[in-house]
Amino acid sequence: MAILHVKGVGKNFAGLRALNDVNLSVEEGGVHAIIGPNGAGKSTLLNCFVGRLTPDSGSVTFAGRSLIGLSPHEINQAGVARVFQTPEIFPELNLLDNVIIPALARRDGAFAVNGWSRADQQHELRDRALHMLEDVELADKRHLQAGNLSRGDKRRLELAMCLVQDPLLLLLDEPTAGMSRADTNSTIDLLQRIGGGKVTKIIIEHDMHVVFSLADRISVLAQGTVIAEGEPEAIRGDPRVQEAYLGG
Ligand code: ADP
Ligand code: MG
Repeated sequence: MAILHVKGVGKNFAGLRALNDVNLSVEEGGVHAIIGPNGAGKSTLLNCFVGRLTPDSGSVTFAGRSLIGLSPHEINQAGVARVFQTPEIFPELNLLDNVIIPALARRDGAFAVNGWSRADQQHELRDRALHMLEDVELADKRHLQAGNLSRGDKRRLELAMCLVQDPLLLLLDEPTAGMSRADTNSTIDLLQRIGGGKVTKIIIEHDMHVVFSLADRISVLAQGTVIAEGEPEAIRGDPRVQEAYLGG
């Protein structure tokens, strides 16, 4: 069953057609990669899913509900979390506090601020945050200042900050950009492990090793249009894709 339906989405920037009649169906629990050359419109499309941009035309439906016109906060509360192209963390705070803050915004209200004063809730909140840091293998660094982490560790931290919110859909915009091969491989392992098959993932990625390691479905975007969509093996062999993207 598809959890995200995108139909006929278009977006213009002052005369530039960034997205043109984009259609996309993302299966629940799957990993759907969106690939394409620089400037193809990948980030613009993701911004339309999280409410940072409003499409000029078309529809975006998540779990049966239209996302058009909802604020980024409302979309987040609906279960959509995003890892940005540049990590967005709290650099002055330690890792544990970085994960505790988004836990307060969980859509189930498990740690709603009005329960904060209760000691048992504070313990549970702390345990939950620590557990998330363990999942991304950062627990031993929990007291370090987040701004001092390596780029790869900042990405891991940001993933923990997303996952602590218990999202249904996780959007990853170039999660391995600028990483060493070793960090890239450990990020692949991490992304395979997290979410336990119940979190749907959409990944924008230019590293084909990452794409073919993770994705079970691929859409190819070129000049704002989906030029191919299918299983990885079909995409790999599609001559249009090779011409437009993989360089023949
Ligand atoms: P990708 O993520 O695939 O590299 P983008 O979605 O960032 O591509 O950009 C698609 C096109 O839209 C590019 O030509 C880019 O310059 C343009 N664009 C993106 N965001 C804006 C914006 N806020 N204002 C004007 N043009 C933009
Ligand atoms: Mg981009």
